[in-house]
Amino acid sequence: MKVLKFGGGCLKDAEAIKKLPNILKKYENNIIVVISAFGKLTNLLEDISSKRTVDFSRLHVVFTNIMKGLSFDKKNILKILNLIKPLDNSNAAILAIGELISSQILSYYLHKHLISHTLCNATGIIKTSNKGISASVDWEETNHRLEGIKDKIAKDNNSIVLTQGFIASYSRGKECEISCLGREGSDYSAAILGNIFNVEEVVLFKDVDGIYSSDPKKNKQAKLFHTLSYNQAFDLCNNGNTVVHPKTIKPLKEKKIPLVIKNFNNIDLPGTVIS
Ligand code: ASP
Ligand code: MG
Repeated sequence: MKVLKFGGGCLKDAEAIKKLPNILKKYENNIIVVISAFGKLTNLLEDISSKRTVDFSRLHVVFTNIMKGLSFDKKNILKILNLIKPLDNSNAAILAIGELISSQILSYYLHKHLISHTLCNATGIIKTSNKGISASVDWEETNHRLEGIKDKIAKDNNSIVLTQGFIASYSRGKECEISCLGREGSDYSAAILGNIFNVEEVVLFKDVDGIYSSDPKKNKQAKLFHTLSYNQAFDLCNNGNTVVHPKTIKPLKEKKIPLVIKNFNNIDLPGTVIS
């Protein structure tokens, strides 16, 4: 089993999203597909949540354009737009809309392309020990939630589970609230699932070839690392290299699971392998 994670930078518009079915077809085995909100939608949602009156009209426009680009019919566009509402009163619930609606759209698109899969809501499986948009994972509870799914996946040899990165939930007794794992946290979600399912590898698809010694967009001399140790990657990610979220390395190092960074637009390139 592998975890494949696609960030917002890859899934930035309808044309980019159309590449996803073919990429998934290249991975025949059991896969868990983790996605983040399309493009820079979380920034937009952060802005929306900071206003006194919450108004989702700008979000409607972005999602409508993407769905039109994917040739969704009017009825389905309206059905999905109707789902745009926060699940509770928290700021985290507003940010979570990005991942929740993006995954609904992708799920519908993949079904249209006959890629059968199960859409699994991450807020029901990734649990945090506190509230907020930068909450800490409750590993024990998350492990417990994933037990049932583990059996299901193990039985089905060709399954695809589609889920959201970044979003989670907090509960105590009857109280339950949406939480998030910190901005850009969907790499970390992929690592959490990789650790718990003890997968063969975790692949993060990005809009760059891999991890560079410095930002290749700013520095022509930047060197691409083909391989890195967990410790080297940990140091880079914790010292300003923003390609991979810093929390991603530890859960994978713990179980010696390789982490591969690949270019979404050129998946035949080897990328950077961290092991
Ligand atoms: N969509 C979230 C964010 O932009 C999570 C992620 O992209 O990893 O922060
Ligand atoms: Mg994002």
